[in-house]
Amino acid sequence: MTGFFEGLAEFSVLLAVLYGVTVALYFLLGCSIIWLNNRNPERRIQKKRRGEKRKAAEIRLSLASILVTCLSVTIGLFAQYKGWAMQPWDFNWWTAVPLFLLCMVLFDAWFYFAHRLLHTKYFYKYHLEHHRSVAPTVWSNDSIGLVDTALSQGFYAVIVFIVPFPPLIVLANRLFDQINGTFGHAGFEYFASKTARRPSPLLCTTYHDQHHAEFKYNFANYFSFWDRALGTISPVYDRRVETFEKEAPPINLKLERQIAGTRKAET
Ligand SMILES: [Zn+2]
Ligand SMILES: [Zn+2]
Repeated sequence: MTGFFEGLAEFSVLLAVLYGVTVALYFLLGCSIIWLNNRNPERRIQKKRRGEKRKAAEIRLSLASILVTCLSVTIGLFAQYKGWAMQPWDFNWWTAVPLFLLCMVLFDAWFYFAHRLLHTKYFYKYHLEHHRSVAPTVWSNDSIGLVDTALSQGFYAVIVFIVPFPPLIVLANRLFDQINGTFGHAGFEYFASKTARRPSPLLCTTYHDQHHAEFKYNFANYFSFWDRALGTISPVYDRRVETFEKEAPPINLKLERQIAGTRKAET
């Protein structure tokens, strides 16, 4: 019995640490990207919508949903630690990059099919909350219903029983997904380039922004592969990226010139 309580304590500490770090990262990334967005208003993707008005609701739901995501990661890592999952491969720098990429590819496939499932008639009620954000913002990435989160983020609890990824690779993927997802929901485009459109399998913020705005396209997370192969990519995605690439002004790191100009005119 003591063993059970010891295990429970270890599990809880791991969960608490992962949750604390993820919440801190959620706010740090959110505030940093808003700082950048304020300096680049021309890069807004949906010019006529202001998703920012849902900020409070999005943050509230995110704080609950992040707990579910961290629970999934904790289950995976704890199962490895206890020897219930596959014996993880030793970490070394030679295999770190290919294993990280493999984990990305597997997570992307998991996410694509879970997401397609969430758009079916029976499961959509669990996904609805995330789609209340028609114009996503940095706070929307984790603004997801709890059943939805368990399905789309359950990958971490399951993958350790199928592929013996070192724990560091699992954590690195979770970290990368948090960063990628916050940029992916930022509502402002910074990554439109040749590498984000056909024939490249990579994508940019417009990809998932279109999923929120147009609803029936672009289900994948990291790569456009599954959407292209199964015909669910938006027919205008590649063209929109190309237009953005040509028309967007250079990224600006100083506060808007217009604001400075307006102040001058007022005085
Ligand atoms: Zn969706
Ligand atoms: Zn989304």
